[in-house]
Formats: sequence, C-alpha cells, structure tokens
Amino acid sequence: MHNINEICKDGQSLPLNTEGNLRVVFLGVGAAFTKRNRQSNFLIIQGEHHVLVDCGTLGPLALDDVGLSVSKVQCYLPTHSHADHIGGFEEVALVNRYISNSPNKPKMIIPKDYQDLLWTKSLAGGAEFCEASQGQPLQLTDFFDIHRPKETELLGRKVWSFQHGSMELVLMRTLHFPDSAVSIDEAQWCSGILVNRRVWISGDTMFDKDYPTQFSSISEVMFHDCQTFQGGVHASYRELMTLPDEVRSKTYLYHYNDNWDDPKAWVKDSDNFTGDPVKDGFMGWADQQVAYDFA
Ligand SMILES: [Zn+2]
Repeated sequence: MHNINEICKDGQSLPLNTEGNLRVVFLGVGAAFTKRNRQSNFLIIQGEHHVLVDCGTLGPLALDDVGLSVSKVQCYLPTHSHADHIGGFEEVALVNRYISNSPNKPKMIIPKDYQDLLWTKSLAGGAEFCEASQGQPLQLTDFFDIHRPKETELLGRKVWSFQHGSMELVLMRTLHFPDSAVSIDEAQWCSGILVNRRVWISGDTMFDKDYPTQFSSISEVMFHDCQTFQGGVHASYRELMTLPDEVRSKTYLYHYNDNWDDPKAWVKDSDNFTGDPVKDGFMGWADQQVAYDFA
C-alpha cells in the first residue's frame, strides 16, 4: 500500500526523517541531459535514517529545490559513474570538508568493487590535490566515511546488502554500459536497489527482461528506467511493453526523455501502445519532488 504525497508545502524544506514509514522522493525523474526535469537521483528516508542515491551534475540544484543541500544530506549511495549520477559528488566532498565545518564526514555506502573506480577515474581529478597532505594525495576516505554493504545472494543473484537503521538496502548489478555488454561481467559497474524487499528501483539499465521479472516476485512497487527511443544504454518504452502484465501493473517509469508527454513525437503508428503509461498498463510516469510513502 502506498500513497503519493505533496512535499515542501508553503516552502518548507523536505524533512530527512519520517515517523517510521518508508518514503522515496525522486529529486528528479529525467534522463541524463534533461532540461525539463532534474536527473534521476532519489532520497530514501525511513525513521531517523536517509540516503541520497546518486547526486548528478544537477543534484545540488535538485536538493535546493526541496530546501536541502549537500551539507544537510549526510548519507550517499552512488550507483555508477555517469555524470547525471555522480557529477555532484565533488560538491558533496568539497563543501563538507571545507565549507560546512561539520564535525563528521558524510557517509558513503559503496561496495568495494566500485570504490576504486569511482575515486580514481572520476572524483580524484578534482579532489585529490585539494591540499598538500605531506606530499600525499587525498583519498576518498578523507572525504567520506565509507560503509560497506555485505555481499550475499538473492533470487540466485549476487547482491550487496546494507542495513541502514530500519531500512534494508539491497544492491543488484545491472546491464547498463557498454551497449554491447551481454552479461554483467562485460558491463561497467552499475547497480539498482531493492528497499526493504518491497520497493525495487531498477537503476540505469538496458532492457534485461529477467531482471524486473525476477524481482517482481518480491516487490510491491517497482520503478524502471525508461527512454522514449530505441537503442543505446537504457530500456526503451517499446521494450518495456513486452514485460508481463503483472510486472507492468506495478511499475512506474522514470529516467525519461524530455519528450515524454508528447507521444506523437515518439510513438509510431505501428506500435501497439499509446505512450500514456497508465493506458498501456503501467502505474504511470514517476513524478519528481513528491513523496512515495509506503505504510
Ligand atoms: Zn547511466
């Protein structure tokens, strides 16, 4: 059972706690280069705990939209190294170390398998020489308090699980890029997330029918990455239409292109769908800056 609730009424900032219920807030629902929405970064909040999954180039601005900032959010989980997901992390790192004067470093939940890649290929460029620390460059651990999920197995897949207060976060690897990858072993690191074994968010992924179908058996509500055209590194609307009815009927679509609300621009006459996800058997387009509250 879930409800969609308005947030930031009368200009109030979004609280980073709940009375115990699970809350998911998409700061954005747009694709990488969106101009009409924000990028698909989202907050998961339960009780006194919160985590921001991804902070892209527009992430700090998207936090400001809901009255927050990179110094208020104190726990992060990066899913992969595309800039719409990690482009805001330099601001997170530098503001927390040099500007907000918080006594604690922000937390980062990250599997060991991804940490070095994130640091050496992306964040180190702007952050490692911020100060001369006895001639040694800084490390990710100078900016973040690292929390390590445990490797385990779920539905026959290798997953990473982390207990964050009363929230259980399970990370699953996805088939996102390069577009030629046909198995996880050939793909660059990218993860989706299952919260409390009831809310599943695909993360960036190409269409990989088994992935949503398998997790639908344990998920109450699902959010799937969706683009309005075919090809490249995301699942297309056309491909998602081939999912079984019972999977579509619990799935919201997010990470969509700026022409999402103009189906004439992307639905062909030969298609067997309308481009209105509710009419096509989905839950609908996910909305940004509202709360999905799970009782
Ligand atoms: Zn991506």
